This record gives sequence, structure tokens and C-alpha cells, in this order.
Amino acid sequence: MAEPRRDIKEKMKLLRESYLRQLPERIEEMDACCGGLKKDPGDREIAKNLHRLAHSIKGSSASFGFGEVSAAALSLDKLLKPFVETGTQLAEGLLPDILGIIDRLKSAVELMNQRHLEEAAAIVSDQIRQEIAERAERRLVFIAEGDPSLLKELSEQIHQFGYDVAVFSRFDELSDAIGEKSPSAVVLDFELPEGVRSEPATVITIRNRLGNGIPAIFISERDDITARLQAVKAGSDAYFVKPVNITDLMDKLDSLTTSRVSEPYKILIVDDEPELAAYHALILQEAGMATEIVNEPLQVFERLFEFGPDLILMDMYMPECDGMELAKTIRQMGAYFSIPIVFLSGETNIDKQLSAMRMGGDEFLTKPIKPDHLISSVAIRAERMRTIRSFMERDSLTGLLNHTRTKLQLDIAVTRARRLGAHMAFAMIDIDRFKTVNDTYGHPTGDRVITGLSRLLQQRLRKTDIIGRYGGEEFAVVLNETNAHYAKKMLDELRTIFSQIKFRHQDKEFSVTFSAGVAVYPEFEDAETIGDAADKALYEAKRSGRNRVIIAPG
Ligand code: GH3
Ligand code: MG
Ligand code: MG
Repeated sequence: MAEPRRDIKEKMKLLRESYLRQLPERIEEMDACCGGLKKDPGDREIAKNLHRLAHSIKGSSASFGFGEVSAAALSLDKLLKPFVETGTQLAEGLLPDILGIIDRLKSAVELMNQRHLEEAAAIVSDQIRQEIAERAERRLVFIAEGDPSLLKELSEQIHQFGYDVAVFSRFDELSDAIGEKSPSAVVLDFELPEGVRSEPATVITIRNRLGNGIPAIFISERDDITARLQAVKAGSDAYFVKPVNITDLMDKLDSLTTSRVSEPYKILIVDDEPELAAYHALILQEAGMATEIVNEPLQVFERLFEFGPDLILMDMYMPECDGMELAKTIRQMGAYFSIPIVFLSGETNIDKQLSAMRMGGDEFLTKPIKPDHLISSVAIRAERMRTIRSFMERDSLTGLLNHTRTKLQLDIAVTRARRLGAHMAFAMIDIDRFKTVNDTYGHPTGDRVITGLSRLLQQRLRKTDIIGRYGGEEFAVVLNETNAHYAKKMLDELRTIFSQIKFRHQDKEFSVTFSAGVAVYPEFEDAETIGDAADKALYEAKRSGRNRVIIAPG
């Protein structure tokens, strides 16, 4: 998850500094290449290496705002390019020119070291801050209701699903609060008693103050078309008749504030320059995405499996293997045939860019790239990937991972825990006596209980936890970095909250419980034994009376 925004300026400054610090080392490497070329001007490998160094410094230093450094590197890039591309021998007479450019590069780096870094860093970070401001997470719901007991019930239930709530019993209080803070959504009683009966005009004024970006859900005593029409005219986004069915209301609330609930896009960044990779990661994180960085191209394959990115952002020129070859290799692996690959490179030659696309790239972005451009290019493609994947991997009723996918995730989590020497917990959750719910209230109401539990899990668990619908009324949860004690605590908390949710069928109210079995790594050492142990523990929880969490004894 993105860390607090105020840190970005500091981080950006550190990144630039650390980038500058390692530049002399790379310039030394260039010096060494020149030494080699002095001995043998015909050595194409050396010329190629020198060109690669110049090319990458050109792109990365421009990204960090070091214009002079980038300009010097560009001269060298241009000078060497024809020889590298045609594979012809470097003209001996060019060596003094090359040395001259490298000198220019050195003094530009020195100059940069003396300058005030903060200024430039501040500009970059302000730019990002501006672009990101609107994407900030919003969790607050305003509830306005004149009936104290209904107000209490609504606020408790909405809060249980993970929202913060602020409650009001009068329109003027609500209106004042809107002036001070901007909520994610407003739930308001259309006939809020205001001493006298409220005028539709009051509601319209409030609706206007909210602006279009904030959804308003109206609740009302009245089910007649006149009242509903009035609500629409006053700008309602949804309308519920009392007694309000809380699961339906939550469905609406979730879908209206949906960007908040969805998992962040996962972006794998492949770049041999650590600072530049970190810089791009920072930009994407600030936009709410999750990132992982690979500096060695060959590690990509391992990270693909464990991290499961929605998109790969890839540098074109890297030492061991270039981006195009890497993209082609990834594409040849069945599982990653459709993952979007976006190249990010200093390459400005259109033919080169096109040939990169033919190798399996989806887009070609040029360094330096403006933060908003990077964010939108990545977000659009990651979003499309999400949609494609969701058809293959998710359950249609709840949107949770399906059985196969959950098992795969368990496998991945165990591999990860083993590598890190960490704990992880796997829980199987099964709704108690669910058949009775269906038999008593009907299948559609049963479905609402299932989506209710699914929503509770999504709201209450961490973004890094994995939630799957294992079967009908059975769920599975993978909790990373969680030991038995903490898993028990967390699941007991969920169990208590779930048992307090009031479901409604017509005018009947009821509540439901679940049982859970948990097994933990390293007490159980692979995905299969963990799965079996959790299943046995669940059976034990059912056998010993239900509505309880049992940890498999290790
Ligand atoms: P226990 O406490 O032992 O788990 O009892 P139970 O009644 O929950 O367990 P059982 O496995 O006997 O019944 C599960 C029921 O869940 C049977 C099935 O019809 C129902 N079910 C499975 N999938 C769905 C679904 O998607 N929607 C609805 N409404 N019901 C479902
Ligand atoms: Mg069952
Ligand atoms: Mg059951």
C-alpha cells in the first residue's frame, strides 16, 4: 500500500541523491570501455556496452531532472548508435570526441552534486501530489436519520462492514458537516423530521452541496411513485424503503464507492537501474498501485509466479538480456500469454519502438515520462487485464477468487513463507446450518447471506490477504505473516461481527454464524497438508457445536 503522501518528497530526494551517487561508478565503467577501445577500436562488444551505458544514463538522468547530464549522454548515444546498429567498426578518429563527451558528462554530474536537490525534488513531488490528490482513499459515510433507533442501527451495521460513519439527526447539521469534510457517500432519510416536515428543496440544497462525485442514498417510509420521483429529482443515486434491508444497502454502498474496495493494481517493474525503478515505483504507489521491482531480468520469472502482476513495466536495454527478448520469452509461456507489457525506454526511434511492439509489447513509453502519463498508461492496461482475469479466476456471485485460484494462491503463499522464514495461516470458513437459511427464507436470501459474508471478509481483512469462495457456502482465507495466535484472534473477531449482522427477509430479521478451521505454516509444511489440516479443524469446529474457530494442532 502507498505510504503517507508527505513522505514522498523526502523519498524522492533520497532517490535522486542515491542516483547521483552511483553515476560516477558508471562513468568509470565508460572510462574502462574507452581504455578498451583505445587498444582495439574494432571491438564491437565494447562499443555496444558503451552505447548501452550512454543510452541508459540519457533516459534515467532525464527522469530525475538532470538535464545537463542527460544532454551529454545523448550526444554519446547519437555518436555511437550508427556503429552499433550497423555492426560496423568504430572510426578510430572518433575516440577523442568520445573522451570529450565523457568529460562533459563528468563535469555535469559534479555540477549536479553541488546544486540544491530539494528544489527539483519538490517540483516533481508536487506534480505527483496534484495528480494523485483525487485518488485518495475515502471511507467515511454520513448518515442522516431522524429516528434515533434506526440511526443507531444503520450506523452500527454500516460501521461493521468497515466504513467510518458520522451520524446526524437534522439536515442543518448534515449540511454543516458537508462544508467541513467530504464523505465517500451519504445515506439520508428523505423525510428527516426538521421540527416541521422537511421540504424537498432542503434535500436538493444538500444534494447540490455534495456535488456529483459523492453518491447519495435516500431512505424513505414511502414506496409510492411520487416520492420516488421526487427523490430522483432531488438527485438520489439509490432509494430504499423502510425497513431497510441492510445487505442490499451495503451492496449499493459498495458499488457506489467501489474504487475504494478494489484491490490495487499490481505492477512488476523490470529495470537494471535500481534508482530509476524505485522512482517509477514511487509514482505508481502514490497512485495507489502495488509494485515490485526486479533489477536482474532473469529473476522476472520467479516474481511473475509469486507476485502475479497485472502488468509488467519493462526497460528495453538491460545487460544480460534486452527487454524485447525478455518480453518474447514471457509471451511464450502459456500462463502469461495475455499479461500487458509496457516498455519504458529512452529509445525514440519509431522503427525500434514498433519492432519492440511486435515482440510482444503493448505500449512503448519514452523516458523521461511525466508521472500522470505513466500512471494513466499503466492504469488503463492493468484495468483491462483485471477484467479479463476476473472472468477466468473469480466467482460471479461474490467476485472472490474461485476454488482453483485460491488453491494456487495458497501454494504461492506457502512458497513465499518458506522463502522468508515467515508464518502464514490458512482458514476454511463454512456457514453454519446454511441449508436451514435457504429452506426458511429462500435461495435468493441465502445468496444475500453469502455476499454479506464475502463483503465482510473483503472489508475487514488486509489488502494482502487472499479471500476465495471455496464452494457453495464455504470460503477460504490465506493470511500472510500470521501466526496461530493472531489468526485465531482475527477469525474470532470476524465471527463475532458476522453473527451480529442482521439479515432481513420480508419483515423477518435473522442472523447467521460460521465455523472455521485454521492451519498454520510452518506447523504444517506444504499446501496440501495445510489444506487437509484446516479441513479437519473445520470439521472439529462443526462437531463440537459450531460458531467457533479451531486451530489445527501442529
Ligand atoms: P453445517 O453447519 O454443517 O455447515 O450445515 P449446512 O446446512 O451449512 O451444510 P450443508 O453442506 O448441509 O448445506 C449447504 C447448503 O448450502 C446446501 C446448498 O443448497 C446451499 N448452497 C450452496 N451454494 C449456494 C449458493 O450459491 N446460494 C445459496 N443460496 N445456497 C447455496
Ligand atoms: Mg458446507
Ligand atoms: Mg455449512
